Amino acid sequence: MPSEFDLIRRFFIRPTQHTLLGAGDDAALIAPTPGCELAISTDLLVEGTHFLGDTAPFDLGWKTLAVNVSDMAAMGATPRWATLAAALPAPTLDWLDAFSRGFFACAEAFNVDLIGGDTTRGPRTFCVTIMGEVPRGQALLRSGAQAGDSIWVSGTPGRAALGLAHLQGRIALTEPHLGQCLAALHRPQPRVALGLALRGLATAAIDVSDGLLADLSHILTASSCAAELHIPHLPPAGLARDGYLSGGDDYELIFTLPAEHRAAMATLAVELDLPLTCIGVITPAKPDAPGTFALHDDQGSPITPTRHGFDHFL
Ligand code: ADP
Ligand code: MG
Repeated sequence: MPSEFDLIRRFFIRPTQHTLLGAGDDAALIAPTPGCELAISTDLLVEGTHFLGDTAPFDLGWKTLAVNVSDMAAMGATPRWATLAAALPAPTLDWLDAFSRGFFACAEAFNVDLIGGDTTRGPRTFCVTIMGEVPRGQALLRSGAQAGDSIWVSGTPGRAALGLAHLQGRIALTEPHLGQCLAALHRPQPRVALGLALRGLATAAIDVSDGLLADLSHILTASSCAAELHIPHLPPAGLARDGYLSGGDDYELIFTLPAEHRAAMATLAVELDLPLTCIGVITPAKPDAPGTFALHDDQGSPITPTRHGFDHFL
């Protein structure tokens, strides 16, 4: 059985691209780019809560970093550095090898240096802290949405939730939809290029980790406003609609846009090869119910969603 330090050396220490001193000492050293602010975020993934015990280790390694990269995208930040704290049951080398390959595949795809961490025995749990850079004052916050802004979402929300429902035997998807939904669940693609392109255009942004409605609500609350939603091509009532409105784990971006930047979205969607859909408009807050929204289908009929999203404590 390799020692803790053998494991760290073998699986988690790789050359870095933009770091003064990487893993191996008591702390790493980084030099932020002058004129930039650091965006810092932490996510914890616990077996049984955030991932199934039989998830393929490569996918899990990818996703462990990808969900953190997504937070950088939502801030309009360039992801740069990450640390990884891992609790592992008696490690099997094959499992760790695949996990670390998945993790570094994501790190390479988004140019992130792994600069340190901690490794301990315990129920399988991963905690990543990520740091990114954004030019001073240009970060995309949740709090900037204004009445009259249009509301947009990237990609096709709901696929990850449908993929999970399929794996749990609650629905039976067929190809090619099945492959798309499993890819969304296992290999989420953080929308970094979109986040960077939205700097100076969007008034607010958030990534969809808990569900479209739940995460939109965070923008509305932080911005003290409300929303009217008219979602084009909303799937008919059922699991597909529930997944779209309240399925977690998609890591698409929701953002708000002043009228003058609306036209830029068609070009941007082509450039990024990513659907960008206008799903509604920000309205002034109702004094008695800030952060609320009204939802209508294609025909304009009101819809009451079954739930807004995922909450660990509800
Ligand atoms: P310390 O005892 O000072 O906390 P450790 O023995 O925990 O140091 O770790 C030794 C070095 O290996 C440190 O530089 C740490 O950042 C790095 N490290 C430990 N675990 C990981 C990991 N899972 N991924 C990347 N680096 C790690
Ligand atoms: Mg340590």
